[in-house]
Amino acid sequence: MELSQRKRRILADMGIPLWRARHARETGTSPEPAAEPMADPVAPEPHTGEPVAKPVVAPSATDWQALRDEVAACTACGELAASRRQTVFGVGDPAARWLFVGEAPGAEEDRRGEPFVGRAGQLLDNMLGALGLDRQTDVFIANILKCRPPNNRDPKPDEALACRGFLDRQIEAIAPEVIVALGRVPAHNLLGTDTPVGRLRGRTHEYRGIPLVVTWHPAYLLRSPREKAGAWEDLLRARDCLGAATPE
Ligand code: SF4
Repeated sequence: MELSQRKRRILADMGIPLWRARHARETGTSPEPAAEPMADPVAPEPHTGEPVAKPVVAPSATDWQALRDEVAACTACGELAASRRQTVFGVGDPAARWLFVGEAPGAEEDRRGEPFVGRAGQLLDNMLGALGLDRQTDVFIANILKCRPPNNRDPKPDEALACRGFLDRQIEAIAPEVIVALGRVPAHNLLGTDTPVGRLRGRTHEYRGIPLVVTWHPAYLLRSPREKAGAWEDLLRARDCLGAATPE
């Protein structure tokens, strides 16, 4: 079958090798990781297995808006509240099956009020696209912090703690079937560990009864494209978790 240019571009970005995707389609299994991404990759078909429908009621629009308003008015972290242009609540479907959690808004996110924009965001969108997912309609994307730390420094522990309540309320409202932690900061905060990301990958963790998979941050993948094949394995692991959540 002739590949669309969009699909070629998405998979070229993801570094998904042709033979691996074909193997996965033919055997229905996750292929072994490639030593390094190859050229001319092809996308696996979007997940079509059961269950398809998420048996969860979406949060009421009123409650969701109230939470959004509460975040927008928050000044719990004085330094961040004083320096931000706006809070970055998150983007996507509040009834999504997938929740992606990143670190904190950067300069562009602070400007636009949306997480994961710019080059890292484009790569994340391409990763989602390779799974047949769209950031607006199929997933929710949030961060550990809703406000940009000055000079893109790491969130301080007290800031992450202060903002955790908002993320937990988002998780409670969304009731995702899987959480994907994008990089070190969300992985360490959600799992309460300082184990390196490389050692947290490759297995399924749990946060509040929901399966959690750790993968590389898209910004790291831009710097280390050889890791894209591993990130793809992580996403397949997360996809396998759909329907397995046992929320508290
Ligand atoms: S980072 Fe979170 S807790 Fe801190 S001021 Fe912003 S919204 Fe409030």
